[in-house]
Amino acid sequence: METDITKLCDSTICRTYARLPVVFTRGRGCRLWDDKGKEYRDFLAGIAVCNLGHCPENLTKVICEQAERLVHVSNLFYTEPQVLLALELVKLSFGDRVFFCNSGAEANEAAIKLARKYSLTHYGSGRYEIITMRGSFHGRTLATLSATGQEKVQRGFEPLVDGFTHVEFGSVEAVKGAITEKTCAIMVEPIQGEGGVRIPPVGYLKELRAICDERGLLLIFDEVQVGMGRTGKLFAYEHEGVTPHIMTLAKALANGLPMGAMIATEEVAKVFDPGSHASTFGGTPLVSAVALETLRTIANPHFLIEVQRKGEYFIERLRELQKKYGVVKDVRGRGLILAMELDRPGKIIVDKCLERGAIINCTQDAVLRFLPPLVVSLEDIDWLMDQLDELLKEF
Ligand SMILES: *Cc1c(COP(=O)(O)O)cnc(C)c1O
Repeated sequence: METDITKLCDSTICRTYARLPVVFTRGRGCRLWDDKGKEYRDFLAGIAVCNLGHCPENLTKVICEQAERLVHVSNLFYTEPQVLLALELVKLSFGDRVFFCNSGAEANEAAIKLARKYSLTHYGSGRYEIITMRGSFHGRTLATLSATGQEKVQRGFEPLVDGFTHVEFGSVEAVKGAITEKTCAIMVEPIQGEGGVRIPPVGYLKELRAICDERGLLLIFDEVQVGMGRTGKLFAYEHEGVTPHIMTLAKALANGLPMGAMIATEEVAKVFDPGSHASTFGGTPLVSAVALETLRTIANPHFLIEVQRKGEYFIERLRELQKKYGVVKDVRGRGLILAMELDRPGKIIVDKCLERGAIINCTQDAVLRFLPPLVVSLEDIDWLMDQLDELLKEF
């Protein structure tokens, strides 16, 4: 089975991924099983997607019930689950209006289009540039890879979409220096995920907001990876006591069903009118019902406090390993997005973890990234630390 599936995959599906040699067939909570029945403990959650773990009972129930009732009718009509979800997102965030789509890239596309249209409406043409950060990741569509501050994502796909300026992440001065009469917005991840779990200095996001208010710019937070409870707050911006004009969500929004959302203040969102933007699948009754249940579960204060508690335990255990092994350059994170930066490539640790039945990730070559389901247990964390301890010893 394994050879069949992996070989057929490699010969029929575009080679856009370097896949690890496992065929998963089943999941439950923080556990996954492959086609040979081997059990794995998951510290990646499908890249910060399955925040409530795999196949949680309450979501499976919602999926089945909604699938029996209604799956899709298009946005030419009204449907209840979509509205209930939008109401909940508005209630729980800074925003007033929501646009639904199917992925992070699409949510960011919507944010970029909204920022441009807002600027055109209020300031006239020629003011369309968006300042984004080096090391950022905003998606793989042409506009979002142009917004992304990493050459490896852009190479081979030039010409890029015009209107993005990249500056050093974490530097207020760099942003100030890049603003011109063409600038309309600043787009930033509150914590860079794919870029290596990079956390900006305290006060950075607040200063960006102040600059935006002073210069008539829009502030866009890309919370595709760090939203939905990942950092121990429902949205990462809550840690800094600052709100954006626009925020994007995706990954964990429907716990594995594809969904993205762009949330904006009324003042900004009102420049979108019928025909401005669309998505055939955006906010179907099925994904909306699942996202609503996901959101209600995560937004529970008791749930979020548990995420914080587990995150503190996790990072403390990583710091113990840092003290013990010189190859560990840095340990950082917030809530349950955590990283251990090594002084050398970390791919071999990922491979060896997999052999031992632990799923972790490595980004930016040397940064081991941990994004467990938010329902991870302390016992699972301890078990992972034992594996890492043994692997770092041999490293
Ligand atoms: C994953 C990610 C995206 C892209 O999301 P897709 O659903 O893959 O299009 C955008 N921004 C951030 C911060 C991400 O982590």
